[in-house]
Amino acid sequence: MRATFKSTYASLPDEFICITKPEIAAFPEIHLYNDSLAKALGLSYLSKQQILTYFSGNEPIPGIEPLALAYAGHQFGHYVPLLGDGRAHLVAELTTPNQEHFDVQLKGSGRTAFSRRGDGKCPLGPALREFLVSEFMHAVGIPTTRSLAVIGTGELVSRERALPGAILTRIAKSHIRVGSFEYAYHLNDIDLLQKLADYTILRLDPDLADHPQKYLSLLKRVVNRQAVLIAQWMNIGFVHGVMNTDNMTLSGETIDYGPCAFIDDFDIDSVYSYIDSGGRYAFGQQPSIAYWNLRQLSQALKPLIDKEIANQDDEITNVLRGFETSFNHNLQQGISNKLGFISKQTEDEQLVQTLFFNMHQHQLDFTLTFREIMLILEGKNQGDISFLKIDALQEWFAQYSCRLSKDYNHIIQAVEKMRKHNPWIIPRNYLVEDVIEAAILGNMQPIKTYLMALQNPFQEYTLNDAFARKPIQQELNVQTFCGT
Ligand code: AMP
Ligand code: MG
Repeated sequence: MRATFKSTYASLPDEFICITKPEIAAFPEIHLYNDSLAKALGLSYLSKQQILTYFSGNEPIPGIEPLALAYAGHQFGHYVPLLGDGRAHLVAELTTPNQEHFDVQLKGSGRTAFSRRGDGKCPLGPALREFLVSEFMHAVGIPTTRSLAVIGTGELVSRERALPGAILTRIAKSHIRVGSFEYAYHLNDIDLLQKLADYTILRLDPDLADHPQKYLSLLKRVVNRQAVLIAQWMNIGFVHGVMNTDNMTLSGETIDYGPCAFIDDFDIDSVYSYIDSGGRYAFGQQPSIAYWNLRQLSQALKPLIDKEIANQDDEITNVLRGFETSFNHNLQQGISNKLGFISKQTEDEQLVQTLFFNMHQHQLDFTLTFREIMLILEGKNQGDISFLKIDALQEWFAQYSCRLSKDYNHIIQAVEKMRKHNPWIIPRNYLVEDVIEAAILGNMQPIKTYLMALQNPFQEYTLNDAFARKPIQQELNVQTFCGT
Protein backbone atom coordinates (compact mmCIF):
# COMPACT_ATOMS: atom_id res chain seq x y z
CA MET A 1 0.00 0.00 0.00
CA ARG A 2 1.23 3.45 -0.93
CA ALA A 3 1.16 6.70 0.98
CA THR A 4 -1.03 9.44 -0.40
CA PHE A 5 0.28 12.99 -0.51
CA LYS A 6 -1.57 16.17 0.30
CA SER A 7 -1.06 19.67 1.66
CA THR A 8 -3.42 20.74 4.42
CA TYR A 9 -1.17 23.58 5.67
CA ALA A 10 -1.95 25.29 2.37
CA SER A 11 -5.48 25.87 3.68
CA LEU A 12 -4.14 28.06 6.51
CA PRO A 13 -4.33 31.87 6.11
CA ASP A 14 -1.40 33.54 4.34
CA GLU A 15 -0.04 34.85 7.63
CA PHE A 16 1.05 31.31 8.57
CA ILE A 17 2.60 30.03 5.38
CA CYS A 18 4.85 31.12 2.59
CA ILE A 19 4.87 29.22 -0.69
CA THR A 20 8.53 28.86 -1.59
CA LYS A 21 10.69 26.48 -3.58
CA PRO A 22 13.78 24.62 -2.35
CA GLU A 23 17.05 25.57 -4.03
CA ILE A 24 18.50 23.18 -6.58
CA ALA A 25 21.13 20.79 -5.21
CA ALA A 26 23.94 20.49 -7.75
CA PHE A 27 24.98 16.84 -7.27
CA PRO A 28 22.54 15.06 -5.00
CA GLU A 29 23.75 11.85 -3.41
CA ILE A 30 22.00 9.54 -0.92
CA HIS A 31 24.08 9.34 2.26
CA LEU A 32 21.52 7.67 4.53
CA TYR A 33 18.06 6.33 3.80
CA ASN A 34 15.69 4.86 6.37
CA ASP A 35 14.20 1.84 4.60
CA SER A 36 12.13 0.65 7.54
CA LEU A 37 10.61 4.11 8.04
CA ALA A 38 9.96 4.38 4.29
CA LYS A 39 8.12 1.07 4.46
CA ALA A 40 6.01 2.14 7.44
CA LEU A 41 5.10 5.37 5.66
CA GLY A 42 4.10 3.57 2.45
CA LEU A 43 7.07 4.91 0.47
CA SER A 44 8.86 1.63 -0.36
CA TYR A 45 7.88 2.03 -3.99
CA LEU A 46 10.06 5.13 -4.50
CA SER A 47 12.90 4.54 -6.94
CA LYS A 48 16.42 5.70 -6.17
CA GLN A 49 15.91 8.48 -8.69
CA GLN A 50 12.70 9.62 -6.98
CA ILE A 51 14.37 9.57 -3.56
CA LEU A 52 17.17 11.71 -4.97
CA THR A 53 14.96 14.25 -6.67
CA TYR A 54 12.17 14.58 -4.08
CA PHE A 55 14.37 14.60 -0.99
CA SER A 56 16.98 16.93 -2.42
CA GLY A 57 14.14 19.30 -3.25
CA ASN A 58 15.17 19.28 -6.91
CA GLU A 59 11.65 18.31 -7.94
CA PRO A 60 8.42 18.82 -6.06
CA ILE A 61 6.36 15.85 -4.96
CA PRO A 62 3.73 15.75 -7.72
CA GLY A 63 0.80 18.04 -7.06
CA ILE A 64 2.25 19.63 -3.92
CA GLU A 65 3.62 23.16 -3.60
CA PRO A 66 6.45 23.36 -1.05
CA LEU A 67 6.01 25.95 1.70
CA ALA A 68 7.67 27.38 4.78
CA LEU A 69 5.84 27.92 8.07
CA ALA A 70 5.86 31.14 10.07
CA TYR A 71 6.44 31.00 13.81
CA ALA A 72 7.88 33.08 16.63
CA GLY A 73 9.59 31.91 19.79
CA HIS A 74 11.21 32.64 23.11
CA GLN A 75 14.91 31.99 22.63
CA PHE A 76 16.75 31.72 25.95
CA GLY A 77 13.81 33.58 27.51
CA HIS A 78 13.74 36.45 25.00
CA TYR A 79 10.81 36.85 22.67
CA VAL A 80 11.61 36.91 18.94
CA PRO A 81 8.46 37.88 17.03
CA LEU A 82 9.36 36.19 13.76
CA LEU A 83 11.50 33.11 13.24
CA GLY A 84 9.87 30.68 10.82
CA ASP A 85 11.39 27.99 8.60
CA GLY A 86 14.53 29.80 7.52
CA ARG A 87 16.15 26.71 6.03
CA ALA A 88 13.36 24.20 5.73
CA HIS A 89 10.64 23.42 3.22
CA LEU A 90 7.54 21.44 3.93
CA VAL A 91 7.38 19.45 0.72
CA ALA A 92 4.28 17.40 1.50
CA GLU A 93 2.11 15.80 4.08
CA LEU A 94 1.32 12.16 3.71
CA THR A 95 -1.26 9.68 4.89
CA THR A 96 0.22 6.26 5.55
CA PRO A 97 -1.48 2.96 4.69
CA ASN A 98 -2.52 2.91 8.40
CA GLN A 99 -4.22 6.28 7.95
CA GLU A 100 -1.65 8.20 10.01
CA HIS A 101 -0.85 11.73 8.91
CA PHE A 102 2.71 13.11 8.79
CA ASP A 103 4.59 16.18 7.61
CA VAL A 104 7.50 15.67 5.22
CA GLN A 105 9.99 18.47 5.66
CA LEU A 106 13.37 19.11 4.05
CA LYS A 107 15.88 20.80 6.33
CA GLY A 108 18.84 22.57 4.73
CA SER A 109 17.00 23.05 1.44
CA GLY A 110 17.82 26.72 0.92
CA ARG A 111 16.67 30.20 1.72
CA THR A 112 13.08 31.22 2.39
CA ALA A 113 11.39 34.49 3.33
CA PHE A 114 12.32 33.65 6.95
CA SER A 115 16.05 33.16 6.43
CA ARG A 116 17.14 36.57 7.74
CA ARG A 117 20.94 36.53 7.41
CA GLY A 118 21.18 32.74 7.23
CA ASP A 119 22.12 30.82 4.11
CA GLY A 120 19.29 28.30 4.40
CA LYS A 121 21.79 25.45 4.35
CA CYS A 122 22.73 22.59 6.63
CA PRO A 123 26.16 20.99 6.85
CA LEU A 124 26.35 17.21 6.59
CA GLY A 125 27.45 16.77 10.24
CA PRO A 126 24.32 18.14 11.97
CA ALA A 127 22.06 16.30 9.48
CA LEU A 128 23.76 12.98 10.28
CA ARG A 129 23.67 13.77 13.98
CA GLU A 130 19.92 14.34 13.89
CA PHE A 131 19.45 11.09 11.98
CA LEU A 132 21.45 9.07 14.53
CA VAL A 133 19.97 10.57 17.67
CA SER A 134 16.35 10.66 16.50
CA GLU A 135 16.56 7.02 15.44
CA PHE A 136 17.90 6.12 18.87
CA MET A 137 15.11 8.06 20.59
CA HIS A 138 12.56 6.21 18.51
CA ALA A 139 14.20 2.88 19.31
CA VAL A 140 13.86 3.48 23.06
CA GLY A 141 10.22 4.49 22.64
CA ILE A 142 10.55 8.26 23.09
CA PRO A 143 8.25 10.36 20.90
CA THR A 144 10.34 12.10 18.27
CA THR A 145 10.38 13.42 14.76
CA ARG A 146 11.97 10.80 12.52
CA SER A 147 14.65 10.96 9.86
CA LEU A 148 13.92 9.52 6.45
CA ALA A 149 16.96 10.58 4.45
CA VAL A 150 20.18 12.50 4.39
CA ILE A 151 20.96 13.66 0.87
CA GLY A 152 24.29 15.30 0.16
CA THR A 153 23.93 18.36 -2.05
CA GLY A 154 27.38 18.10 -3.61
CA GLU A 155 28.04 21.71 -2.57
CA LEU A 156 30.07 23.22 0.21
CA VAL A 157 28.49 25.14 3.05
CA SER A 158 30.53 27.88 4.57
CA ARG A 159 30.83 27.67 8.38
CA GLU A 160 33.95 28.00 10.58
CA ARG A 161 35.36 25.81 7.80
CA ALA A 162 33.87 24.80 4.44
CA LEU A 163 31.76 21.70 4.99
CA PRO A 164 29.81 19.42 2.68
CA GLY A 165 26.15 20.43 2.54
CA ALA A 166 23.23 18.09 3.13
CA ILE A 167 19.46 17.97 3.37
CA LEU A 168 17.68 16.02 6.06
CA THR A 169 14.18 14.73 5.38
CA ARG A 170 12.30 15.04 8.65
CA ILE A 171 9.01 13.27 9.34
CA ALA A 172 6.79 14.70 12.09
CA LYS A 173 3.21 14.29 13.28
CA SER A 174 3.19 18.03 12.80
CA HIS A 175 5.65 20.91 12.91
CA ILE A 176 3.31 23.12 14.94
CA ARG A 177 5.27 24.54 17.84
CA VAL A 178 4.55 26.56 20.95
CA GLY A 179 6.19 29.35 18.92
CA SER A 180 3.55 28.94 16.19
CA PHE A 181 0.89 29.91 18.73
CA GLU A 182 2.94 32.76 20.16
CA TYR A 183 3.20 34.10 16.63
CA ALA A 184 -0.56 33.71 16.08
CA TYR A 185 -1.35 35.42 19.39
CA HIS A 186 0.79 38.42 18.50
CA LEU A 187 -1.04 38.90 15.21
CA ASN A 188 -3.78 40.33 17.47
CA ASP A 189 -6.53 38.82 15.39
CA ILE A 190 -8.61 36.22 17.20
CA ASP A 191 -9.91 34.74 13.93
CA LEU A 192 -6.39 33.91 12.82
CA LEU A 193 -5.55 32.45 16.22
CA GLN A 194 -8.68 30.36 16.09
CA LYS A 195 -7.87 29.11 12.59
CA LEU A 196 -4.49 27.85 13.75
CA ALA A 197 -6.00 26.25 16.86
CA ASP A 198 -8.77 24.54 14.89
CA TYR A 199 -6.25 23.32 12.34
CA THR A 200 -4.05 21.94 15.14
CA ILE A 201 -6.99 20.15 16.72
CA LEU A 202 -7.92 18.56 13.40
CA ARG A 203 -4.33 17.40 12.88
CA LEU A 204 -3.47 16.22 16.39
CA ASP A 205 -6.64 15.80 18.44
CA PRO A 206 -9.55 15.42 16.03
CA ASP A 207 -11.69 13.84 18.77
CA LEU A 208 -11.78 17.30 20.42
CA ALA A 209 -13.26 19.05 17.39
CA ASP A 210 -16.78 19.16 18.84
CA HIS A 211 -15.79 19.47 22.49
CA PRO A 212 -17.44 22.48 24.18
CA GLN A 213 -14.07 23.43 25.75
CA LYS A 214 -11.86 22.35 22.92
CA TYR A 215 -9.10 24.95 23.36
CA LEU A 216 -8.69 24.28 27.07
CA SER A 217 -8.74 20.57 26.25
CA LEU A 218 -6.05 21.08 23.62
CA LEU A 219 -3.89 22.80 26.22
CA LYS A 220 -4.49 19.92 28.62
CA ARG A 221 -3.44 17.37 25.99
CA VAL A 222 -0.26 19.27 25.15
CA VAL A 223 0.62 19.71 28.83
CA ASN A 224 0.26 15.98 29.34
CA ARG A 225 2.19 15.03 26.20
CA GLN A 226 5.07 17.25 27.27
CA ALA A 227 5.01 15.89 30.83
CA VAL A 228 5.25 12.35 29.46
CA LEU A 229 8.02 13.37 27.05
CA ILE A 230 10.22 15.23 29.53
CA ALA A 231 9.91 12.38 32.05
CA GLN A 232 11.18 10.04 29.33
CA TRP A 233 14.06 12.40 28.55
CA MET A 234 15.04 12.44 32.23
CA ASN A 235 14.91 8.66 32.50
CA ILE A 236 17.24 8.16 29.55
CA GLY A 237 19.60 11.04 30.46
CA PHE A 238 18.80 13.21 27.43
CA VAL A 239 19.74 16.89 27.48
CA HIS A 240 17.99 18.71 24.64
CA GLY A 241 20.17 21.78 24.89
CA VAL A 242 17.89 24.39 23.21
CA MET A 243 14.44 24.16 24.70
CA ASN A 244 13.31 27.43 23.15
CA THR A 245 9.55 27.64 22.60
CA ASP A 246 10.08 27.28 18.85
CA ASN A 247 11.68 23.90 19.55
CA MET A 248 8.71 22.51 21.49
CA THR A 249 5.99 20.75 19.51
CA LEU A 250 2.30 20.48 20.28
CA SER A 251 2.46 16.85 19.20
CA GLY A 252 4.79 16.04 22.10
CA GLU A 253 7.52 14.88 19.74
CA THR A 254 11.15 15.70 20.47
CA ILE A 255 12.29 18.14 17.78
CA ASP A 256 15.53 19.84 16.73
CA TYR A 257 18.59 17.84 17.59
CA GLY A 258 21.11 20.66 17.72
CA PRO A 259 23.54 20.65 20.62
CA CYS A 260 21.79 17.77 22.42
CA ALA A 261 23.68 15.10 24.35
CA PHE A 262 23.19 12.25 26.79
CA ILE A 263 24.66 12.42 30.25
CA ASP A 264 27.55 10.06 31.00
CA ASP A 265 28.09 10.41 34.76
CA PHE A 266 24.92 11.25 36.61
CA ASP A 267 24.77 14.97 37.32
CA ILE A 268 21.59 17.02 37.16
CA ASP A 269 23.61 20.19 36.50
CA SER A 270 24.98 18.81 33.20
CA VAL A 271 25.08 21.42 30.42
CA TYR A 272 26.83 20.65 27.14
CA SER A 273 25.66 23.28 24.68
CA TYR A 274 28.35 25.90 24.21
CA ILE A 275 25.68 28.58 23.65
CA ASP A 276 24.01 27.80 27.00
CA SER A 277 26.57 29.46 29.23
CA GLY A 278 23.98 30.23 31.93
CA GLY A 279 22.80 26.63 32.13
CA ARG A 280 19.19 27.60 31.39
CA TYR A 281 18.68 24.26 29.65
CA ALA A 282 20.73 22.08 32.01
CA PHE A 283 19.63 18.46 32.44
CA GLY A 284 17.82 19.07 35.73
CA GLN A 285 16.20 22.30 34.48
CA GLN A 286 14.24 20.61 31.72
CA PRO A 287 10.98 20.00 33.63
CA SER A 288 10.75 23.60 34.85
CA ILE A 289 11.65 24.97 31.42
CA ALA A 290 8.98 22.79 29.80
CA TYR A 291 6.51 24.24 32.31
CA TRP A 292 7.69 27.77 31.49
CA ASN A 293 7.17 27.06 27.79
CA LEU A 294 3.70 25.65 28.41
CA ARG A 295 2.81 28.85 30.27
CA GLN A 296 3.67 30.74 27.10
CA LEU A 297 1.36 28.43 25.18
CA SER A 298 -1.45 29.01 27.69
CA GLN A 299 -1.00 32.77 27.29
CA ALA A 300 -1.33 32.42 23.55
CA LEU A 301 -4.45 30.25 23.80
CA LYS A 302 -6.10 32.43 26.46
CA PRO A 303 -8.19 34.60 24.11
CA LEU A 304 -9.80 31.43 22.77
CA ILE A 305 -10.25 29.82 26.18
CA ASP A 306 -11.80 33.09 27.40
CA LYS A 307 -14.57 32.61 24.89
CA GLU A 308 -15.44 29.09 25.98
CA ILE A 309 -15.42 29.30 29.78
CA ALA A 310 -16.09 31.85 32.51
CA ASN A 311 -13.38 31.34 35.16
CA GLN A 312 -10.63 30.80 32.64
CA ASP A 313 -7.70 31.86 34.87
CA ASP A 314 -8.45 29.18 37.46
CA GLU A 315 -9.01 26.58 34.81
CA ILE A 316 -5.78 27.39 33.01
CA THR A 317 -3.88 27.32 36.30
CA ASN A 318 -5.37 23.90 37.05
CA VAL A 319 -4.43 22.56 33.65
CA LEU A 320 -0.87 23.86 34.01
CA ARG A 321 -0.63 22.31 37.48
CA GLY A 322 -1.36 19.02 35.81
CA PHE A 323 2.15 19.17 34.34
CA GLU A 324 3.85 18.57 37.68
CA THR A 325 1.50 15.75 38.66
CA SER A 326 1.83 13.99 35.33
CA PHE A 327 5.59 14.57 35.09
CA ASN A 328 6.21 13.19 38.60
CA HIS A 329 4.00 10.22 37.98
CA ASN A 330 5.69 9.38 34.69
CA LEU A 331 9.17 9.95 36.08
CA GLN A 332 8.54 7.64 39.02
CA GLN A 333 6.89 5.03 36.85
CA GLY A 334 9.88 5.15 34.51
CA ILE A 335 12.39 4.72 37.33
CA SER A 336 10.34 1.90 38.86
CA ASN A 337 10.44 0.16 35.50
CA LYS A 338 14.20 0.66 35.27
CA LEU A 339 14.60 -0.95 38.69
CA GLY A 340 12.22 -3.79 37.86
CA PHE A 341 9.53 -2.88 40.40
CA ILE A 342 6.01 -4.08 39.76
CA SER A 343 4.10 -3.03 42.88
CA LYS A 344 4.46 0.29 44.72
CA GLN A 345 6.14 0.05 48.13
CA THR A 346 6.79 2.71 50.75
CA GLU A 347 10.56 2.20 50.63
CA ASP A 348 10.79 2.79 46.85
CA GLU A 349 11.31 6.54 47.02
CA GLN A 350 14.13 6.23 49.54
CA LEU A 351 15.80 3.50 47.48
CA VAL A 352 15.67 5.66 44.36
CA GLN A 353 17.01 8.71 46.18
CA THR A 354 19.90 6.82 47.75
CA LEU A 355 20.82 5.29 44.40
CA PHE A 356 20.82 8.65 42.60
CA PHE A 357 22.70 10.34 45.43
CA ASN A 358 25.46 7.74 45.23
CA MET A 359 25.57 7.80 41.45
CA HIS A 360 26.24 11.51 41.66
CA GLN A 361 28.62 11.24 44.60
CA HIS A 362 30.78 8.59 42.93
CA GLN A 363 30.51 9.78 39.30
CA LEU A 364 28.82 6.64 38.09
CA ASP A 365 27.69 6.35 34.51
CA PHE A 366 23.92 6.78 34.44
CA THR A 367 23.18 4.23 31.70
CA LEU A 368 25.63 1.57 32.84
CA THR A 369 24.62 1.73 36.49
CA PHE A 370 21.29 0.10 35.66
CA ARG A 371 23.00 -2.52 33.50
CA GLU A 372 25.48 -3.23 36.32
CA ILE A 373 22.59 -3.77 38.71
CA MET A 374 21.16 -6.26 36.22
CA LEU A 375 24.51 -8.04 35.89
CA ILE A 376 24.73 -8.39 39.65
CA LEU A 377 21.18 -9.76 39.81
CA GLU A 378 22.11 -12.30 37.15
CA GLY A 379 25.22 -13.30 39.08
CA LYS A 380 27.47 -12.05 36.27
CA ASN A 381 29.35 -9.77 38.62
CA GLN A 382 32.79 -9.77 37.07
CA GLY A 383 35.42 -7.65 38.80
CA ASP A 384 34.88 -4.61 36.57
CA ILE A 385 31.56 -3.55 38.08
CA SER A 386 32.04 -0.03 39.54
CA PHE A 387 28.85 -0.31 41.50
CA LEU A 388 30.17 -2.96 43.88
CA LYS A 389 33.29 -0.98 44.69
CA ILE A 390 31.18 1.49 46.66
CA ASP A 391 30.35 0.38 50.20
CA ALA A 392 27.16 2.44 50.41
CA LEU A 393 25.87 0.75 47.28
CA GLN A 394 26.63 -2.74 48.54
CA GLU A 395 24.38 -1.89 51.46
CA TRP A 396 21.84 -0.39 49.06
CA PHE A 397 21.88 -3.54 47.00
CA ALA A 398 20.94 -5.67 50.00
CA GLN A 399 17.89 -3.45 50.64
CA TYR A 400 17.04 -3.44 46.97
CA SER A 401 17.14 -7.24 46.79
CA CYS A 402 14.78 -7.37 49.74
CA ARG A 403 12.49 -4.94 47.96
CA LEU A 404 12.51 -7.00 44.76
CA SER A 405 11.56 -10.12 46.67
CA LYS A 406 8.18 -8.46 47.35
CA ASP A 407 7.48 -8.61 43.60
CA TYR A 408 9.27 -11.79 42.54
CA ASN A 409 9.83 -15.34 43.84
CA HIS A 410 13.40 -15.14 42.53
CA ILE A 411 14.91 -11.69 42.21
CA ILE A 412 16.60 -12.65 38.93
CA GLN A 413 13.12 -12.55 37.36
CA ALA A 414 13.24 -8.76 37.65
CA VAL A 415 15.91 -8.71 34.94
CA GLU A 416 13.40 -9.64 32.23
CA LYS A 417 11.41 -6.49 32.93
CA MET A 418 14.53 -4.34 33.35
CA ARG A 419 15.89 -5.41 29.96
CA LYS A 420 13.06 -3.53 28.23
CA HIS A 421 13.69 -0.29 30.11
CA ASN A 422 17.49 -0.02 30.26
CA PRO A 423 19.34 0.35 26.98
CA TRP A 424 22.90 -0.98 26.96
CA ILE A 425 23.98 1.82 24.69
CA ILE A 426 23.17 5.50 24.21
CA PRO A 427 24.62 7.86 21.57
CA ARG A 428 27.92 8.77 23.24
CA ASN A 429 29.05 12.14 21.97
CA TYR A 430 32.63 11.10 21.23
CA LEU A 431 31.41 8.14 19.16
CA VAL A 432 28.85 10.29 17.35
CA GLU A 433 31.59 12.80 16.53
CA ASP A 434 33.98 10.06 15.33
CA VAL A 435 31.53 8.48 12.90
CA ILE A 436 30.42 11.88 11.60
CA GLU A 437 34.02 12.94 11.02
CA ALA A 438 34.63 9.73 9.04
CA ALA A 439 31.46 10.39 7.00
CA ILE A 440 32.60 13.92 6.18
CA LEU A 441 35.85 12.41 4.89
CA GLY A 442 33.81 10.10 2.67
CA ASN A 443 33.69 6.89 4.73
CA MET A 444 30.05 6.09 5.54
CA GLN A 445 30.66 2.62 6.96
CA PRO A 446 31.30 3.63 10.61
CA ILE A 447 28.10 5.69 10.81
CA LYS A 448 26.04 2.91 9.23
CA THR A 449 27.38 0.41 11.75
CA TYR A 450 26.77 2.77 14.66
CA LEU A 451 23.29 3.64 13.40
CA MET A 452 22.35 -0.03 13.28
CA ALA A 453 23.55 -0.43 16.86
CA LEU A 454 21.62 2.63 18.05
CA GLN A 455 18.48 1.28 16.40
CA ASN A 456 18.82 -1.81 18.64
CA PRO A 457 19.92 -0.31 21.96
CA PHE A 458 18.53 -3.11 24.15
CA GLN A 459 20.67 -5.73 22.46
CA GLU A 460 23.15 -7.44 24.81
CA TYR A 461 26.65 -6.01 25.25
CA THR A 462 29.31 -6.32 27.90
CA LEU A 463 30.85 -3.55 29.98
CA ASN A 464 33.93 -3.62 27.76
CA ASP A 465 32.26 -3.44 24.33
CA ALA A 466 33.31 -0.43 22.27
CA PHE A 467 29.79 0.98 21.90
CA ALA A 468 28.75 0.25 25.49
CA ARG A 469 31.72 0.92 27.74
CA LYS A 470 32.06 3.89 30.05
CA PRO A 471 33.92 6.70 28.28
CA ILE A 472 37.40 7.46 29.59
CA GLN A 473 38.14 10.97 30.88
CA GLN A 474 39.02 12.46 27.47
CA GLU A 475 35.89 10.98 25.93
CA LEU A 476 33.40 12.41 28.42
CA ASN A 477 30.93 14.95 27.14
CA VAL A 478 32.26 18.45 27.42
CA GLN A 479 30.71 20.69 24.82
CA THR A 480 28.34 20.32 21.92
CA PHE A 481 27.69 22.78 19.11
CA CYS A 482 24.60 23.53 17.06
CA GLY A 483 26.77 23.64 13.99
CA THR A 484 23.88 25.11 12.03
P1 AMP B 1 17.16 26.30 15.17
O1 AMP B 1 18.32 26.74 15.98
O2 AMP B 1 17.50 25.27 14.14
O3 AMP B 1 15.99 25.90 16.00
O4 AMP B 1 16.71 27.56 14.32
C1 AMP B 1 16.22 28.75 14.89
C2 AMP B 1 15.79 29.68 13.79
O5 AMP B 1 16.92 30.05 13.00
C3 AMP B 1 14.78 29.11 12.82
O6 AMP B 1 13.94 30.15 12.42
C4 AMP B 1 15.64 28.62 11.69
O7 AMP B 1 14.94 28.51 10.47
C5 AMP B 1 16.71 29.70 11.63
N1 AMP B 1 17.97 29.20 11.06
C6 AMP B 1 18.88 28.40 11.62
N2 AMP B 1 19.91 28.15 10.81
C7 AMP B 1 19.65 28.81 9.65
C8 AMP B 1 20.33 28.96 8.39
N3 AMP B 1 21.50 28.36 8.15
N4 AMP B 1 19.75 29.74 7.46
C9 AMP B 1 18.56 30.35 7.68
N5 AMP B 1 17.88 30.26 8.82
C10 AMP B 1 18.41 29.49 9.81
MG1 MG C 1 14.28 25.01 15.68
